[in-house]
Amino acid sequence: MKAPPQLRTVTHFIGGSFAAEGTERFGDVFDPALGEVQARVAFADEAAVDAAVRAASDAFPKWSRMSLGKRAEVLFGFRERLRARAQEFAQIVSSEHGKIVTDAAGEVARALEVVDFACNLPHLLKGELSESVSTNVDTYSLRQPVGVCAGITPFNFPMMVPVWMLAPALAAGNTFVLKPSERDPSASLLIAKLLQESGLPDGVLNVVHGDKVAVDALLGHPLVNAVSFVGSTPIARYIYETAAKNGKRVQALGGAKNHLVVMPDADLDAAADALVSSAYGSAGQRCMAISACVSVGSSAEPLLERVVDRIAKLRVGPGHDKSNDMGPVVTPAARERILRYIESGVTEGAALLADGRTLRVAGYENGFFVGPTLFDKTTQNMQIYRDEIFGPVLVNVRARTLDEALAIVNANPYGNGTSIFTRSGAAARTFESEVQAGMVGINVPIPVPVGYYSFGGWKASLFGDLHVYGPDGFRFYTRGKVVTARWHESNAGMNLGFPTHS
Ligand code: NAD
Repeated sequence: MKAPPQLRTVTHFIGGSFAAEGTERFGDVFDPALGEVQARVAFADEAAVDAAVRAASDAFPKWSRMSLGKRAEVLFGFRERLRARAQEFAQIVSSEHGKIVTDAAGEVARALEVVDFACNLPHLLKGELSESVSTNVDTYSLRQPVGVCAGITPFNFPMMVPVWMLAPALAAGNTFVLKPSERDPSASLLIAKLLQESGLPDGVLNVVHGDKVAVDALLGHPLVNAVSFVGSTPIARYIYETAAKNGKRVQALGGAKNHLVVMPDADLDAAADALVSSAYGSAGQRCMAISACVSVGSSAEPLLERVVDRIAKLRVGPGHDKSNDMGPVVTPAARERILRYIESGVTEGAALLADGRTLRVAGYENGFFVGPTLFDKTTQNMQIYRDEIFGPVLVNVRARTLDEALAIVNANPYGNGTSIFTRSGAAARTFESEVQAGMVGINVPIPVPVGYYSFGGWKASLFGDLHVYGPDGFRFYTRGKVVTARWHESNAGMNLGFPTHS
């Protein structure tokens, strides 16, 4: 756990100050392409989390009462600073996560969309008013912030996912404690710095790093009112249960096994392009990665031929080199896990059409690389089909009909996103209507909704009801209040009956 002292230390950000004093535990932050530790990150104990939550709680009265226009100004300032420093964000994300720097720039662009939407806060926080619900009586609704909110985020989008949560939360007048992934923690501190420069008062956003100790301290803290989580399904379930038991509102987004169904009438070149981009982009470490293809009828052979051809052309290497298509995976443990899955696929009898196990990248021999891997003739009982591998491994399952393909997708415990490639409107409509997933693509591979819709899955991919960002984000981070008011000089008189309109 302890790293040499000359390494850069990633600190917390509490009450407007960057500090790691008193930290006893640290985690390693790797450069995944070189396979070396590049920094150490402070791990918060209960006292550090308590300090962050108290800073957020102290900052809440002033921030929540600040005029909508002033809060919007802070967000507009943040938006401008994000745009100006987008490249810097991309480099930070690429160096700690491993993804190609152009891919990381895409993550920043999608985060910006969410900030764009949050800048509309004066409009989004409008209530409704009904005049004269009874004689001289009006009724109106308010949306008010919930208080101190906590966000716990995964390694695979270290810039975008924190922004998914904190932009709508802050816009709605809440204060926030972010616990980013300990594997690539630095982007979160640049977010905090830019918000501070944009005029966000100290204490409104706090960042604490760490592991289960920090997370549990947040889940148990009496001053935390709402918890947003994005990460793997077992942890999402734990967060949902624990936070709910402690009386907090909670949304917990989990893992995925996203299917892409290819009908025989589809444009097979477009489908193959989509499969390769989506399965191997970011080395398969996207919650919206397509990790299972369902080829229907005669599509299987010509489709897989095209996929194999495309895989052969992919360039795998360090993320800072824009000419590469795919970088390493995030940690040595992730690499070992993925290699074990490939072994298990071979042992269980799936047909290995592309094998990423032997890949070596010249000059980066210690990097955490796994080459693009493709299995055909996978069955639903195989481990490579059942589990979320979260690496560059695509499995193909063969189906005879659209109904059979739908049954396969719907039997899967996950329900994050799914796509269909077809030229038939009828097939697309049946799929869209009957498939059990939160986000559906038709002739597009990764249907991450734009910032003015919301993002979330079904089944084991989301515990809770509201999705993140967009309109659902504002619903999650506000509480409803309905006021009934009578402003009139005359007295309505005494009446002990249940009030009705008159
Ligand atoms: P993870 O579940 O290991 O970690 C997520 C967060 O939980 C991190 O901040 C981590 O520190 C914390 N955590 C880890 N173990 C914990 C424990 N035992 N108790 C309390 N907190 C704990 O996920 P990851 O590996 O960082 O990210 C990859 C996973 O996230 C994949 O499963 C992926 O599908 C999922 N994901 C889902 C979405 C979505 O929108 N549904 C988006 C991105 C990633």
